[in-house]
Amino acid sequence: MSKPYADREVWFLTGSQGLYGEETLRQVAEQSQEVARTLDASDDVPATIVWKPVLTDSAAIRRAMLDANSRDDVLGVITWMHTFSPAKMWIAGLDVLSKPLLHLHTQANVELPWDGIDFDFMNLNQAAHGDREYGYALARLGVARTTVVGHASNPAVTGRVGTWVRGAAGWAATHELRLARFGDNMRNVAVTEGDKTEAEHVFGVSVNTWGVNDLVAAVDAVEDATVDSLVAEYEDLYDVVPELRKGGERHESLRYAARQEAALEAFLGELGAKAFTTNFEDLGALRQLPGIAVQRLMAKGYGFGAEGDWKTAVLVRAAKVMGAGLPGGASLMEDYTYDLTPGDERILGAHMLEVCPSLTTSTPKVEIHPLGIGGKEDPVRMVFDADPGVGVVVSLADMRDRFRLTANVVDLVEHPALPNLPVARAVWKPRPDFTTSAEAWLTAGGAHHTVLSTAAGVDAFEVFATIARTELLVIDEATTARGFRDQVRFNAAYYRLAQRI
Ligand code: MN
Repeated sequence: MSKPYADREVWFLTGSQGLYGEETLRQVAEQSQEVARTLDASDDVPATIVWKPVLTDSAAIRRAMLDANSRDDVLGVITWMHTFSPAKMWIAGLDVLSKPLLHLHTQANVELPWDGIDFDFMNLNQAAHGDREYGYALARLGVARTTVVGHASNPAVTGRVGTWVRGAAGWAATHELRLARFGDNMRNVAVTEGDKTEAEHVFGVSVNTWGVNDLVAAVDAVEDATVDSLVAEYEDLYDVVPELRKGGERHESLRYAARQEAALEAFLGELGAKAFTTNFEDLGALRQLPGIAVQRLMAKGYGFGAEGDWKTAVLVRAAKVMGAGLPGGASLMEDYTYDLTPGDERILGAHMLEVCPSLTTSTPKVEIHPLGIGGKEDPVRMVFDADPGVGVVVSLADMRDRFRLTANVVDLVEHPALPNLPVARAVWKPRPDFTTSAEAWLTAGGAHHTVLSTAAGVDAFEVFATIARTELLVIDEATTARGFRDQVRFNAAYYRLAQRI
């Protein structure tokens, strides 16, 4: 299997010291190479694991960290104290490290050779206390990290290492992210606002606005041949209703939608932007709100937020990268309406147009219907049901003094047909149950816009939040309303205290 981030490296750093002599250090090198090889060979681990020579002094450790920092293709570093590596020698390196860190607590052997153990064996295989010495330094310095425990041959270990790599890739993606907003936020909406300067500091994302008429000019500039080939692609890939097909009476609307897709992709490509927002209140001379164009760009990996919601666009982009190569997808989503049948409560999520078809394995229908708001021509959109399965909805809110991620693990379910609903949708049951989930979500002030991810799971978002030192409130099978309220209160104090003055 080819790795989703094959062009990205994770450095494997092994700690030891000079006290043991050359023979032991040679064995440390061999065994740590074997661990790195095992991780790299696992299908769970989506980047290339690169072993580095064993580190035995402060200057070399600091140099390794600085080298990792300087490489854009390095997603993060894994550290393992194979033997005892007195941790003062790690301080200078940890102080300069700006990449995500995984502390792997492992050892070369699975079973102990009980009747063969002598003191040479004890000296060689002492991660049990070497990693404790190192863990003390990490804790004392307050280094943000993920800790993974177990033998590298254990699928639970490679699975967690892989999830950490995905979270680190999400963090790299937001740091490489340019986000283009067409127009401002929907008027008077609170939760889609936020501090764009702080977002660049915390997540690395550069958020800027372009006048929608710049996009209008790009739409007008699209060549007919480009439109021809996109329309042919739509008719080939999707179940396009007859009125929109070539020869159909509303075919021109499909051609205009294709023109919007080509223009958006070219415009974003020129900016190097991998995420964008629109606002139905600010469409200038655009004839329709982009529907299928936005849906297809999300499917190509772009982040998107509606109504100027750049924070959700960042999350969609991060989810796209973190979920690369996994079954499922990620999309802008909005909690819309409930089925409150006792014991069988369900949430119907959708948006006015913009739901990504990566959420379905079925063939989307392409339809045209009026849009009740915006005062423009009828927009073309893909209509489908999201596949059943496990997912997570995540929102990003600006709480004035910090950002807050709120995540709810959900089970997408089958549901009755919705013959009169002209948009793509997902239906889910939230964990642990509807009332606890909704009460917790409202207590947290989670947004109505989310990313729904069925590829990257809540664990990848947790890694991302850890690296970004950003609050993450998780609602899942272990959540209770009382415990969650306490968590929100404790976090309010913690994140205030943890801030620099
Ligand atoms: Mn919305």
